[in-house]
Formats: sequence, structure tokens, C-alpha cells
Amino acid sequence: MIGFELSGEQKQWQKKAQAFAQEEIKPLAWKIDKGLTREYHWPLLAKMAKQGLLNMGGPEVYGGSGLDILTISMVLEELAVGDGGISFTASLNSYNAVMIAGNEEQQKKFLPLLCDTENPGLAAFALTEPNAGSDAGSIRTEARREGNEYVLNGEKSFISNGDVARVYAIFATVDKGKGIKGITGFIVPGDAEGLSPGKIEDKMGFRSSRTTGFFLNDVRIPETYRLGQEGDGFKIAMQELEVLRVLSCGAVGVGVARAAYEDALRFFKTVGDAKKIMGQQAISFHLADMLASIEASRLMVWKNSWMLDNKIPVGAMTSLTKFYVSDTAVEVANKGVQLLGHHAYTEQYPLEKYVRDAKLLQIYEGTNEITRLVASRGVFSN
Ligand SMILES: Cc1cc2nc3c(=O)[nH]c(=O)nc-3n(C[C@H](O)[C@H](O)[C@H](O)COP(=O)(O)OP(=O)(O)OC[C@H]3O[C@@H](n4cnc5c(N)ncnc54)[C@H](O)[C@@H]3O)c2cc1C
Repeated sequence: MIGFELSGEQKQWQKKAQAFAQEEIKPLAWKIDKGLTREYHWPLLAKMAKQGLLNMGGPEVYGGSGLDILTISMVLEELAVGDGGISFTASLNSYNAVMIAGNEEQQKKFLPLLCDTENPGLAAFALTEPNAGSDAGSIRTEARREGNEYVLNGEKSFISNGDVARVYAIFATVDKGKGIKGITGFIVPGDAEGLSPGKIEDKMGFRSSRTTGFFLNDVRIPETYRLGQEGDGFKIAMQELEVLRVLSCGAVGVGVARAAYEDALRFFKTVGDAKKIMGQQAISFHLADMLASIEASRLMVWKNSWMLDNKIPVGAMTSLTKFYVSDTAVEVANKGVQLLGHHAYTEQYPLEKYVRDAKLLQIYEGTNEITRLVASRGVFSN
């Protein structure tokens, strides 16, 4: 790892993702962002699935690409240069709760549904509720045991793929009195009776990633769909977030920042009058700062991914990576807008889109206040 020489396989995946992002994702992402397409982009996801870019972490035996977290990070960065929301969708599929906590029987049943390369299925991770965001331990959705079934009732909010997922990991409490020790994870199929979506959120950015709440009204599932034991749910959710903070915020964040930097650089290299001021320090110093923070962010993502792959305890590292990279993405995208002036303030160049997209990275999967809190406890507590 320290040599930074990528393997032949890693280079191939990177190249494939780069081509897919430029040829397939970028043109469509612009249309989705501007609301020019009404249909959900299943055809794009189907093409991604066929190329092994939608479920990268799933075992090959179930149809996944079987990649390690480091290689997934490299691919997600490239996809995010095309569009942050599409790359995020791939990250949720590539590292899901069934892979983390599912037993053999559950993996056999549900992973092929998420790894299907002909008819792709999406995963959803449903923890947040209308009154439980940062304070995820206070969720109220309940799971009542009846014989060898559980009956789920409650409401989830702001769930990515909330109305389009085929396999949901839903976190509910089996005993409110037990606090986080009552939280339990369940696999719920997308077509389960009693599961009904709320309204589709009209978002500032990441418009290619669908976000909705949903209601659970007497959703019955067999006890064999429970992830781990009763009370394991909070731990499972945090295990998944530990990886997603590196993939969905880290790798995706590097890609969004790179898109802004590369577009800004291209502008100064190619556009008439802009070429004349490229050499001025007021411009080139900003470009140098943008590139430096992108390089530093990528190193954090790669180191963190490598630690996860090698089962080295990450401690505060994922939180540091999450807030540093997402702050970088926002800063780089903002600088891009400033550098291009009025050109970037309109939709003539996609810089304004990158600012809107990057902002989400500071909010989801633990806000940057919460991840700073976690990191400061880990690093400065002794
Ligand atoms: C587009 C989008 C997609 C999402 N996808 C998913 C998903 O797939 N699954 C899922 O479960 N959730 C999802 N979420 C929810 C997301 O994880 C929450 O928005 C996030 O955890 C923050 O919760 P909140 O929005 O309720 O903010 P709040 O918790 O209400 O926080 C409001 C503000 O207070 C600050 N704050 C809160 N508590 C503290 C504290 N203790 N110390 C310091 N500051 C604090 C926060 O940092 C924030 O600035 C998504 C959200 C968005 C916007």
C-alpha cells in the first residue's frame, strides 16, 4: 500500500469507471439535476450493473464484483466525477447491511437480488426517523414479536432509495425501555405488505439519488429476517456507517471535488479571455489549493479503506475522513464557482451543481458536528 502502485486490476476498474462516468453518467446527470427526466433512471443503473459497477462489494458467487473496500473507493471516486448521487447509489449497494450482518441463509436469499446484473435491485439503509436524526438511538419504530414473526410499525424519513429499493435494512426497537440495547435490524423486502412510501423529497442537490420517507403499517416478516440477535441493531448500523462514511462521503466527496477542480482548470485552459489570466497568482494559487486538498483527501480515503480491508481498528479515522473530505468538497466546489465568476453562477457550467451536491456530504451519515464530536472523543479523550 505505501508504494501507491495500483494493481493491474485496480487500474482496469478505475479506467472502466472513468469511461462510464464520462460517457454514460455525466450527460444524464445534468438532465436529472435540471428535472428534465421524469422517469427513474433504471436503464442507467442496468448498464452499471452489467459492467459490475453497481454492486462492487457483493461476493462473486451471488453476482457481485467481489471488490475490496480500497478498490471500491477508487471506482466510486471516478463515478462521482460523473455524478455524486449516482456514485452514492452504487456505494449503498456495494456495502450493505446484509453483507455485514446477514447469516449464510439471508445472504443466499437477498444478495442475489442486489447483485442482479440483468435486473438490478437497490438496497436501502433505514435508520433516520422524523424525530431521530443525529440522535439515532431514540428511534421509535417498533418491532413486536408474534410467534415466529415480527410485526413492524412506525415511520422512517429521509431514506435514500426509500421508494425504489428491493431490499431494506430497517432498524426498529423491540423494547423502548432498553434504549439502544433494544434496537434491532431487520431485512424487509421492498414488496412487503404494509410498507408504503411517503413523498419524494425535492432536494437541493444529489437529485439523482431518490430520497423518501416511508410508513410501516403492520409489516409482517419472519423471524429469520432478523439481522443478528435482538439488540444488535445499533451496533450493525454503526458498523455499516463506519464503512459508508469512507465510501459515500469520502470517495464520493473526492470525486465531486475533482469534478469542480477539473472543470475549473479546463475553463482556464480553453476559454478565450480566461486563458490570459490563468497564470495570475490570484487564479493559480486557488487551483493549487484545490488540488492539494483533493490529494490529501484521497490519501485519507485510501488509508482508511486499506485499514478497513485489513481489519485494523479505525478508531476516530473514519470520522476524521468524513468531515475533512466533505468540507474539502464544499470548499473546492465553492472556489470553483468563485474562480469562474458569472459563468459558474448560471447553469452554463456545472460548478453550481457541485456546490449543491457537496453540501449533502456534510449532513448525511452523521453530520460534520457529530463526526467531529466522535473524532474528538476518540483523539482527545485521554
Ligand atoms: C439527502 C439525504 C439522504 C439521506 N439518506 C439517509 C438514509 O439512506 N438512511 C438514513 O437512515 N438516513 C438518511 N438521511 C438522514 C441523515 O443521516 C440525517 O439527516 C443526519 O443524520 C442528521 O440528522 P437530522 O437531519 O435530523 O439533523 P438533526 O439531528 O436534527 O441536527 C440538526 C443540527 O444540529 C446539530 N446537532 C445535533 N445534535 C448535535 C450534538 N449532539 N452536538 C452538536 N451538534 C448537534 C447537527 O449537526 C445539525 O447541524 C439522509 C439525509 C439526507 C438529507
